[in-house]
Amino acid sequence: MTETPATLPEGPLLQIEQVRKVFRTDVFKPAQVALAGLSLTLRRGQCTALLGPNGAGKTTTIRLILGLIAPDSGRVLFTGRPMSTASKQYIGYMPETAKLPASLQVAEVLRQQLLLFAPPHATTAKQRRQCVEATLAEVGLSQHAHKRIGRLSKGMARRLAWAQATIHRPQLLILDEPASGLDPLARRSMLGWIQAEKSRGTTILLCTHEMLQVSTLCDDYVVLRRGHLVASGLVAASTGVCLSVSGLGETGLSRFALTEELPPWRALRQDGFLAELSFVDYDGAAMWAAALLRKGYVVTRFGDDYRAIEEQLLSYYLEEA
Ligand code: ATP
Repeated sequence: MTETPATLPEGPLLQIEQVRKVFRTDVFKPAQVALAGLSLTLRRGQCTALLGPNGAGKTTTIRLILGLIAPDSGRVLFTGRPMSTASKQYIGYMPETAKLPASLQVAEVLRQQLLLFAPPHATTAKQRRQCVEATLAEVGLSQHAHKRIGRLSKGMARRLAWAQATIHRPQLLILDEPASGLDPLARRSMLGWIQAEKSRGTTILLCTHEMLQVSTLCDDYVVLRRGHLVASGLVAASTGVCLSVSGLGETGLSRFALTEELPPWRALRQDGFLAELSFVDYDGAAMWAAALLRKGYVVTRFGDDYRAIEEQLLSYYLEEA
């Protein structure tokens, strides 16, 4: 899956403008405001995490993008124009739970997807057959090509959902908890596939409750709460670099910083004899590591600090709890 289906106009791929969606289920109950004037723009070629506590409005946002429900007010634009049926060929969607007819066969699902969208790489029957075979091989389902959907294990169904979302080479990929229910090995494959899709320049909206996916896969994040956008930003700006050193407590580290003229740390976590220092950037962390090693201290870890963004994002969930 290396080519893109067609050249789309420049500019943002997806814009959500002042979208409001209210659900009224019962005249005796108050209306449920699922989205209260949400606006957001996806940067092209970037992976954006769509975050928020249960009931925040994430699924409603996805359903609106896909045109499964209509907004009460506001609009969803794809390449600057209202979302149309034709736009849907450029979109891939992996729902959290796929609802496919149990009697369909695995290969049939993928063939149907190609027939529906007729992407340029699969216009003839031969191309479609080759594309289905290659995709099944990629996701490790070749042996199950003729299995009925109803007989698939959860992991197999997730892999099929991924294949279905990507086989037509979408430019916008919407993933709802893609790794849910997968064993560790399958999970690793799934994250690798997302990474590969990112490298191809696909714009991705990733709805997840897993902070590790945010820190390792996403460029941007948006946080919804009660239908409002409460935070957004660059993941990189919220991560940093951390190092762990043994044998120095907070007082010892402060003294060491003074004598060695080292920059201040952003956060310090103490776990027994181990101190974990977090820095905004690589330079600060590297100066500390060099000074500590020079003085004979044991630096046990040096690398990306994902905990900062985890803690920042968790604070939005805590406010809701
Ligand atoms: P979760 O993380 O639990 O999946 P979410 O962020 O996806 O939550 P939504 O499913 O978008 O949240 O729901 C937002 C709000 O809208 C909730 O209060 C929910 O009860 C309500 N809601 C969503 N769909 C409907 C519907 N079809 N009818 C009535 N209320 C709905």
